[in-house]
Amino acid sequence: MSIDQLERTGVNEMTKPFIYDYTLEELEQWAVENGEPKFRAAQIYDWVYVKRVNDFSEMTNLSKALREKLDDQFQFVTLSEITKFESKDGTVKFLFGLHDDHAIETVIMKHNYGNSVCVTTQVGCRVGCTFCASTLGGLKRNLTAGEIIAQVVRSQQILDERNERVSSIVIMGTGEPFENYDETMKFLRTMIHEKGLNIGQRHITVSTSGIVPNIYKFADEDTQINLAISIHAPNDKLRSKLMPVNRRFPFDDVMESLRYYQGKTGRRITFEYALIGGVNDQPEHAEELAGVLKDMLCHVNLIPVNYVPERKYIRTARKDIFQFQRILADHGVNVTIRREQGHDIAAACGQLRAKHMEKHKEA
Ligand code: SAH
Ligand code: SF4
Repeated sequence: MSIDQLERTGVNEMTKPFIYDYTLEELEQWAVENGEPKFRAAQIYDWVYVKRVNDFSEMTNLSKALREKLDDQFQFVTLSEITKFESKDGTVKFLFGLHDDHAIETVIMKHNYGNSVCVTTQVGCRVGCTFCASTLGGLKRNLTAGEIIAQVVRSQQILDERNERVSSIVIMGTGEPFENYDETMKFLRTMIHEKGLNIGQRHITVSTSGIVPNIYKFADEDTQINLAISIHAPNDKLRSKLMPVNRRFPFDDVMESLRYYQGKTGRRITFEYALIGGVNDQPEHAEELAGVLKDMLCHVNLIPVNYVPERKYIRTARKDIFQFQRILADHGVNVTIRREQGHDIAAACGQLRAKHMEKHKEA
């Protein structure tokens, strides 16, 4: 990664570049420029992503001189564990500290089919959704691809202890991935690399609030990675009230970009819909949403809104959640209610970090 790129992502140019920020091809170039055979890069890549060491000195099939050179020029991403919460349902939520003292959240969720990791792409978020704790302090900076990768590698290292794998990844932590597009794509390409963690493309989902130009770009990337869209309202007017981003990229434009994505990839789209008591959870909202989605190959994920103390929103009553679901289903829309994981440990997007920042202010 060039100094230019580092500056764009806001990382201090004096820090050594992160080894995780290098693709295999970039490592090959580095090897050749440093008088090493090209295959050294694959050896390094294997140590980093398959053997998952945290120190260059452990790369024992490389010469001592090369290990020292690597150590001179690169660093691993260090994620210090600020807090860790374990839920009764097996969900583990981490608050990690970065080298510049920012804090980010990563969650490992245990399912019957395996483990999924929920990663953060930005420190904070500037999108400003009215129900979201992640955006309360605005955007501090983008994460580099390597800092997103580190969250998965760390999770895999934790799972290694019990011989389990990260089987899926969701980009649903703090931040808007399509406002940090290039780093997010680099992260994704590393995750699916067959010489690295080799995670199945169909087991990865990226969620966006609807940054339209990058939905088009993503459609053209030629991957099989899933796309989820935070829709949260069945029309333009209500969506603008809940999500200011809708004024930048209106509802109809979002839907049009999704139709393009679907035409291009043939993939089913997930719509996330947070049910907020009395705001977007009435039967007429369900009817309207069903009408909008009727020709789309999609799936709706209903999320009972998580209470954010700074916001006044309340949850929809259980029976009304089921009614909303039934209306959609009666119209032939594929719909589920999100299983809530880690509810007892504030696992909602951005809540742990918001609490941490609040404590820091008091201190
Ligand atoms: N920024 C991206 C991805 C991260 S958020 C996006 O917005 O899509 C993951 C999901 O959690 C999004 O659908 C988001 O809208 C939703 N979310 C945020 N705050 C929430 C809350 N308080 N209750 C329920 N869902 C919430
Ligand atoms: Fe940002 Fe997503 Fe939160 Fe909206 S819901 S403020 S896009 S993190």
